[in-house]
Amino acid sequence: MNAAHGELKHDAAAYALGALEPAEHAAFEAHLAMCAECAAEVKQLRLSAGALAHAVPQVSPPPALRAKILGQVTATPDVPRPASGVVVRDKRGVPAWLQIAAMLVIGAGVFLYAQRMQARVSNLEAQLARAQAQVASADRLIADARTVAFRAQAAMGVFAAPDVARIDLAGQPVAVSARARALWSRQRGMVFTVANLPALPPGRVYQVWVVTAQAPVSAGLLTPDASGGGSVYFETPVDILPPVAVAVTLEPAGGVPAPTGERYLIGTPSPL
Ligand SMILES: [Zn+2]
Repeated sequence: MNAAHGELKHDAAAYALGALEPAEHAAFEAHLAMCAECAAEVKQLRLSAGALAHAVPQVSPPPALRAKILGQVTATPDVPRPASGVVVRDKRGVPAWLQIAAMLVIGAGVFLYAQRMQARVSNLEAQLARAQAQVASADRLIADARTVAFRAQAAMGVFAAPDVARIDLAGQPVAVSARARALWSRQRGMVFTVANLPALPPGRVYQVWVVTAQAPVSAGLLTPDASGGGSVYFETPVDILPPVAVAVTLEPAGGVPAPTGERYLIGTPSPL
């Protein structure tokens, strides 16, 4: 009996699950009648199997799959089977629950990695937007610098023009202390420098006029700095008649085609 128990006790689980071959089944059943230990083990295994059956969905595996799983359980001689309970292992001896747990851990890891990558992409997109804004800002600075350089070059051209004329402007009763000087060349335009103009009222702008025998021609608009001063380069039409005067009036913002406002500065050409 003791020798038979040592041989047969490992069949208890397969017997409880009904997975023994007919000859083995008969041999174990004969032993069971005489062995209280195996009888107790089978009883416990059947209780466990019954509880398991209630704990999982009532879906019977196909007979072929059931046989395959049980065959793996019973055909792994190098892995000692536990005294009670059945642990399903694959060929590498890794329990199924551990494989599932590993898949869950890997899944969680992939999810966290994806989240981190998403955050990284968002960060890079923000950096790219900032870099693009900086490039746009630099482009504007370059354009501004080119405009300033062009105007400076044009102003230098006026100073050096062989036909340059100088017009000094005097402040009128509304701006007695205001002063201005225009340097004008028919070919190269006009450099207009002003000082002490009163601060502009809201919605108003100063407009500079080249007054010819025919009509006043707008040279352009002038917004002085905080001290009432500034220097501006104006292009003037090359076919303009010789100026008899240069004047500054106060006009609505945006300027007007012909002067409508009060005169702030006026001057007539004088030899250099
Ligand atoms: Zn036994």
